[in-house]
Amino acid sequence: MYKLLTWEQVQEMLDYGIEFGSHTCTHPELPSLSREQCIEEITRSRQDLEAKLRREVVSFCYPRGKLNPEVIQLVEQAGYRGAVVTPKRSRIPLNPYTLRRVGIYQQTTPSVFRLKLTPLMRKNYERFKWLLGA
Ligand SMILES: [Zn+2]
Repeated sequence: MYKLLTWEQVQEMLDYGIEFGSHTCTHPELPSLSREQCIEEITRSRQDLEAKLRREVVSFCYPRGKLNPEVIQLVEQAGYRGAVVTPKRSRIPLNPYTLRRVGIYQQTTPSVFRLKLTPLMRKNYERFKWLLGA
C-alpha cells in the first residue's frame, strides 16, 4: 500500500514550485471504460483537484499507462494542455498528450533518481531500464 501525501505536504510542494496533475478519481484502466465514464474520470478529478489546490490543473497522467487514441482525444478535449505516458509506452508517437515521464517509485534511491534525469539515460531508456528499475 502506498503512503499518500497529506494536503499540507501538497501545499508545501506547491509553494516550492512542484506541479500537480490529474490522475483520475479511481485509477481505472481508461480504455476499458465507457466514453461517459472516461469523461467523468478525466474531468471530475481535474475539477476536484483545482478546487482543493485553488489553481489550474493542466496536466494528466494515464492510470497504469493504459491509453488508446480515444482516451488521448478525451484528455485533450477536457482542456488539459498535456499528458504523460509511462516509459513502457515509449513507442507511441510523441505529442503533447504522450509526453514521456520519468518513473519514480518507492524503491527508487536518490542516486538512481539523479541518474534517471540525465539526458544520456533518458535518451537510452530502453537499453538501461534493467538498471533503472523501469
Ligand atoms: Zn497511478
